Amino acid sequence: MAEARRIDGKAVAAGIIDRVKAATTALTADGGPQPGLAVVIVGADPASQVYVGSKEKMARECGFHSVKHELSAETSEADLLAVVERLNADPAIHGILVQLPLPRQIDEARVIEAIDPDKDVDGFNLINVGRLATGALDKAFVPCTPAGSMILIRGALGDDLSGLNAVVVGRSNIVGKPMAQLLLAANATVTIAHSRTKDLAAVCRNADILVAAVGRAEMLTGDYVKEGAVVIDVGINRVPAPEKGEGKSRLVGDVDYASAAARAAAITPVPGGVGPMTIALLMANTLTSACRAAGKAPPR
Ligand code: NDP
Repeated sequence: MAEARRIDGKAVAAGIIDRVKAATTALTADGGPQPGLAVVIVGADPASQVYVGSKEKMARECGFHSVKHELSAETSEADLLAVVERLNADPAIHGILVQLPLPRQIDEARVIEAIDPDKDVDGFNLINVGRLATGALDKAFVPCTPAGSMILIRGALGDDLSGLNAVVVGRSNIVGKPMAQLLLAANATVTIAHSRTKDLAAVCRNADILVAAVGRAEMLTGDYVKEGAVVIDVGINRVPAPEKGEGKSRLVGDVDYASAAARAAAITPVPGGVGPMTIALLMANTLTSACRAAGKAPPR
């Protein structure tokens, strides 16, 4: 079989960002609010700092009102909850994102539950989890990584996935489970695999759509891939790259790209696949929230 088509998530994400920019201009020209995104970061974890920085930058590029709250690693849960409460009450803010993970003294679940579900652009609040689980997709904020992955899957296979087998490897609340819900809503027959799954390779080889959200560098090789499958690699793993120089590293996915691409019909690369979609969907969710607050229909 020929080498798989490389799914260009960067290009698809750029198209979404262009539409968000245009819709933001149209919304404000029509007397609507400027979408506002507040990002809250607690502590100085370098990876979190990078993620937050790029979200803030992208929000500004989209024409949003962008606010960053940087709190020290020693911040108490009560102080963080007070920040969330203020943002919930602020009419200029339509999206609130609390960067995870949080320091040990703070209960993440309690903070997520404190975010107004209508400003919960990450889609982690139980109300949004419930909306997604019950198929109320028009009201839900869907977590950005699975929502972005779904756009790439639809780009490869179309809107209706009836009759297709989907296997999601990983069952986290932020990726695996919502991914499975979205695939189910699109009529795929869905299997969720995890660390206790027996003969994972055989399970995966049954997949017309294989989504890897494991967090293990290049674990899923070509042996896990059915001929002609669409492979979505959510994983982001940093591995040593001595070929680039001493102490250097590079990013790889959860899928071994070369061997998987030899069998798949289409596959996302890492970087440049799902990663850029996540941030684009965060912007799209914030715009949707601003449109809803103004009683206007969000762009499709
Ligand atoms: P978690 O660590 O929360 O979940 C990993 C899942 O993989 C768990 O369900 C675990 O099973 C399963 N798993 C672990 N080892 C194995 C194994 N050997 N065989 C089968 N299943 C296994 O990770 P996340 O869901 O948060 O993230 C997954 C990956 O996606 C990571 O690489 C992360 O960096 C990346 N990511 C990328 C984003 C993006 O923007 N592209 C955004 C978010 C995450 P069990 O439940 O049994 O322990």
